[in-house]
Amino acid sequence: MTTTIQLVNPADEQLLQEVALTSAEEADLAIERAAAAHASWRRVAPADRARLLRRFAAAVDAEVENLASLEVRNSGHPVGAARWEAGHVRDVLEYYAAAPERLFGRQIPVAGGVDVTFQEPLGVVGVIVPWNFPMPIAAWGFAPALAAGNCVVLKPAELTPLTALRLAELARDAGIPEDVFQVLPGEGSVVGRRFVENPLVRKVSFTGSTAVGKQVMAGCADQVKRVTLELGGKSANIVFADADLEKAAATAPYGVFDNAGQDCCSRSRILVERSVFDRFLSLMEPAVTGLRVGDPSDPATEMGPLISAAHRSKVASYVPSDAPVAFRGSAPSGPGFWFPPTVLTPSRPDDPVLREEVFGPVVAVVPFDDEDDAVRIANDSDYGLSGSIWTRDVGRAFRVSRGVEAGNLSVNSHSSVRYGTPFGGFKQSGLGRELGPDALSAFTETKNVFLATEE
Ligand code: NAD
Repeated sequence: MTTTIQLVNPADEQLLQEVALTSAEEADLAIERAAAAHASWRRVAPADRARLLRRFAAAVDAEVENLASLEVRNSGHPVGAARWEAGHVRDVLEYYAAAPERLFGRQIPVAGGVDVTFQEPLGVVGVIVPWNFPMPIAAWGFAPALAAGNCVVLKPAELTPLTALRLAELARDAGIPEDVFQVLPGEGSVVGRRFVENPLVRKVSFTGSTAVGKQVMAGCADQVKRVTLELGGKSANIVFADADLEKAAATAPYGVFDNAGQDCCSRSRILVERSVFDRFLSLMEPAVTGLRVGDPSDPATEMGPLISAAHRSKVASYVPSDAPVAFRGSAPSGPGFWFPPTVLTPSRPDDPVLREEVFGPVVAVVPFDDEDDAVRIANDSDYGLSGSIWTRDVGRAFRVSRGVEAGNLSVNSHSSVRYGTPFGGFKQSGLGRELGPDALSAFTETKNVFLATEE
């Protein structure tokens, strides 16, 4: 029996469209088709595979506007951000289009013969995507996986399948065989679970919550299935007194309220050196109250709605009526899952807003005493994904960067994601790295071959 999901535009709560959900049996059939297609896909000449990926990138480039507008309606992303996301998919494809012809092995000196290594594709790779960045996160999985010679089955999040479905059509138009890259909208407990349990899937690349990531990892252990996990975060933005305070305060809201805070790299804890704590807050206030929150299809909009009513209730639970609110921005009233940017100054270190991933536009600002104290507070978390350090002291910038237990740090900026550099988390923020030159090793096995030359 086919069930469907009704998609709603999060900005106005209007019904968008109904999408059929893949059943467990259909998922298994798709996985079987992918496994069958692998025999020929892995034999496509490297230059031809590269050409197909470049054509796929060109098809995405020609559709940036359409993909962006789908994301605006399906996910409520501001159109400027959605255009960047579609362009990022193109860039990731172009970057990994160079890979098939550069998937070098090694020749290792040994006695009695020649020893070489090959980077072999794994077979079928299952990519599981969350709803917060449907396009970029899908591409981080499918682009390197396809480049390395794998077939991909991809499950978008229940609420946000539209751009992934369109990307599969663009791949097909570009000449990538239909069974080599399949998008299967469906439930995590049905389709995602088949990726974990079906032995024809040789690797699961999972992005989502830490709780579900742990289940995926435990399930994969049964078959020693390869797994990459990109999970939650509670990242710190550390502001020292010697920093360019005006710039640090003006940019801090963008480091946390980007995508309405539904960002795994969101700097949802701001740690400020005590001597400039009050000044920092007074500089930050106009940046928060001035944030343009509203209609995501307006190019001037900086922050859109949350993804769903249920998610808004979860976010709201972190701001009870007696919450220590320092100040708040604005949000539209009326239909749509709106929540205003909110700045809290909690006094207890065990306040849930300092420990749990809110995944909404809520930030906690706390003081610290010195460098060691800043690093201690930053590391007082099960997570370790991202973070920022604001200082004019270069030595301190590197000392603190080395001290903070997180995979992606930026000094005097809030950037986390570049397709050419590795991305991933320490501790319970994940396992493995995506993007950059090394991502291909996560989609290949090293095979060693010795050839005897002695008579
Ligand atoms: P989620 O864990 O609820 O769902 C993620 C995906 O897993 C969805 O496609 C879902 O259908 C699927 N899923 C659910 N149960 C499953 C199961 N039992 N087996 C297999 N798949 C299953 O997460 P979400 O709410 O969609 O996304 C938000 C979370 O994602 C946040 O915690 C955020 O930090 C995290 N995230 C991490 C990164 C990163 O790169 N580290 C990036 C974006 C989002």
